[in-house]
Amino acid sequence: RSKTLAGSSYRIFAPEMDALAQRAQELEYELRTALKRNEFELNYQPLVDSQTRKITGYEALLRWNNLKFGPVSPGEFVPIAERSGMIAGIGEWVLHQACMDAAGWPNDIHIAVNLSPHQLNGFSLLAVLPRALGESGLLARRLELEITETALEGDPEHIIDMLHSIREMGISIALDDFGTGYSSLSHLVRFPFDKLKIDRSFVSEAMVSAEAMTIVRAIVSLAHNLKVRTTAEGVETEEQFGTLAEMGIDEIQGYLIARPLPADRLDHAQNRFDAAGFNATA
Ligand code: C2E
Ligand code: MG
Ligand code: MG
Ligand code: MG
Repeated sequence: RSKTLAGSSYRIFAPEMDALAQRAQELEYELRTALKRNEFELNYQPLVDSQTRKITGYEALLRWNNLKFGPVSPGEFVPIAERSGMIAGIGEWVLHQACMDAAGWPNDIHIAVNLSPHQLNGFSLLAVLPRALGESGLLARRLELEITETALEGDPEHIIDMLHSIREMGISIALDDFGTGYSSLSHLVRFPFDKLKIDRSFVSEAMVSAEAMTIVRAIVSLAHNLKVRTTAEGVETEEQFGTLAEMGIDEIQGYLIARPLPADRLDHAQNRFDAAGFNATA
């Protein structure tokens, strides 16, 4: 590639990159005081049993509403919090808040909390978890932690130790976003997971591609042989729901059922929905 081309593309893209980098830097600055200023909130999205359509649990999804920037999506700020080392503090707040909220829900409803890969480094999580359970009074068996495959890239011995220690507390572990990036079936065999969450991109692909459908079937069958439960994420249509339920996927999560909602807007008894979803009557 010629110097001229590289030079001209640099001039074209540099101002935009600067703007993005500057926004990231300003968001990082704002993040430093976000906990103190109470700018975080958890929303909860239900998971339903694919056969009975009853709510089995909720996933806690972090929301940040900043004074200066307004709502910022976790897709944008979580990576910044990870890079700058702030995810540990934020993640601890999420665990405490989610356990406090869930402690007030019916006993058969679980709560799933997303973990950042950094939270599996070291051993501090093994102190944070009993504290969150103890202070909220939530039973360990009602707590589930979601980790992505990125978290498995570190020292496998340490990660396996951590996962076993967590499960010994009675907490369960889900592998999140399966089917994106570097998904590997061997992860299911190697690491002690209780649940596998099939990513939204895989769910939608399976509806249009017979090949993807075959892969999803194989994944579900392997998971069940390993006694690992399965959830499909990002289910938006009745057609998807029907196909996934027929395949034997245990749980369904997605906008078809409900969008993530603040804790005070949840209706645990709601086990009925039509093609327009729960929100149609809300
Ligand atoms: P995730 O854990 O895979 O969460 C599912 C994401 O899909 C959520 O996005 C949810 O709102 C969205 N979603 C659910 N159903 C549908 C659907 O039917 N259609 C579509 N288009 N989207 C759907 P959200 O809330 O923006 O979160 C994005 C990601 O940010 C999460 O992906 C998770 O990786 C991360 N995240 C969220 N909260 C936390 C947290 O407390 N800690 C950490 N470490 N990460 C978090
Ligand atoms: Mg998740
Ligand atoms: Mg997910
Ligand atoms: Mg996902």
